[in-house]
Amino acid sequence: MNRPLLSLQNCQTYDQAGVDVAIRRLLEPLGSISNFVRPGHKVLLKPNMLSCKDPGQAATTHPAIIEAVAKLCVEAGAQVFIGDSPPSIFGRTEDFWNRTGFATAAANSGARLLCFENDDKQRLSFVSNGRELAVYATRHCFDVDLVINLPKMKTHNLTRITGALKNLFGLLPGLAKAQWHKAFPRPIDFSNFIVDLAQQLPCHLTIMDGIAAMDGQGPSGGRVVNPGVLLAATSPVTVDIGFCAVVGLDPAEIPMLARCRELGWGPVTLQQVEMAGTPLAELKFSDYRVPKLISTSFIPEWLLNYGRRLAWAGPALLPNLCIKCGRCQKICPADAIEISDNGATFNKDRCISCFCCMEVCPVDAIEMKTSVLLGLIFKMRGLKRKLRKRKN
Ligand code: SF4
Ligand code: SF4
Repeated sequence: MNRPLLSLQNCQTYDQAGVDVAIRRLLEPLGSISNFVRPGHKVLLKPNMLSCKDPGQAATTHPAIIEAVAKLCVEAGAQVFIGDSPPSIFGRTEDFWNRTGFATAAANSGARLLCFENDDKQRLSFVSNGRELAVYATRHCFDVDLVINLPKMKTHNLTRITGALKNLFGLLPGLAKAQWHKAFPRPIDFSNFIVDLAQQLPCHLTIMDGIAAMDGQGPSGGRVVNPGVLLAATSPVTVDIGFCAVVGLDPAEIPMLARCRELGWGPVTLQQVEMAGTPLAELKFSDYRVPKLISTSFIPEWLLNYGRRLAWAGPALLPNLCIKCGRCQKICPADAIEISDNGATFNKDRCISCFCCMEVCPVDAIEMKTSVLLGLIFKMRGLKRKLRKRKN
């Protein structure tokens, strides 16, 4: 059986001319853009537009990547659309487009920007975590001939990474996304949901922006690092396996990829992938910090029931930064936030540790904190893992 193909390309710059060349090279092993786009096609580009931030903050897909891909599609004779739905739009969508550079990318390439919030939705029915679900996705992704997924290489406090699979969650418009966090508060269940949902959504090609990436407390307030890599594959699973390989993560420790393995969707390990382009050895990035899994699955049930306050991981305020805008309160699916003169306060009894508040905070005034006991459990697990590695 043919192994899925993963294309890797070294690229250290967001200089547009350099990115244009790198994207062309990246797509060559996959048959170039003409293998996907035909004259007259409608193509939807789905970048990550998580928050209203400058491209240099690495919270969003860099506009140079969007522009390069859009220009290739236009050259191939397609009508191109660029669209995403951030966790919630506070303020005008145009402000997001301008600040992230998406508006410039669209103007320079001839693409049209779409706002999923205002348009028709398509109902999807499927089972996830043993429940029958009705989920509404933007109709745009079903109305086009081709969806090109353009994720950013980032960490995520809840799911550990937010790459190709998780980027498709943005095809669900608006505030509904926060409610799915409430429906599946455990990181493992939420990760299962993301994968089960991704299987229902069209995605023909994925190109990941890892030139600059975010690690630490992603997906919004982490550290900007520079792996200098672009990844492409037809399957988002293959790209996320490649993401893990570049930053030295074991795919088995990423719940979304563990779910893919359960479903038999895509490759399980890098050994099952055929690689092309820049050799992986030249791209390995050693200093990538990934949040621990805040999984309750390893905490005994009695501790969960009686000691939730003791074994707790959740948001904490950096009071000096808080501008009391109230966005965190509006997005919180658990109604766990109050805003006073001192800024935001978090009700630990209500909080489901989804970290939606962190994602929408415009000034990164929220950080993740763990209780002493949970910190100790993390340390013990880290120690165990090190010992296991040494043994092997
Ligand atoms: S924590 Fe952030 S989102 Fe919440 S009120 Fe303060 S500044 Fe706004
Ligand atoms: S306080 Fe923040 S982390 Fe807790 S439930 Fe609300 S949005 Fe999620």
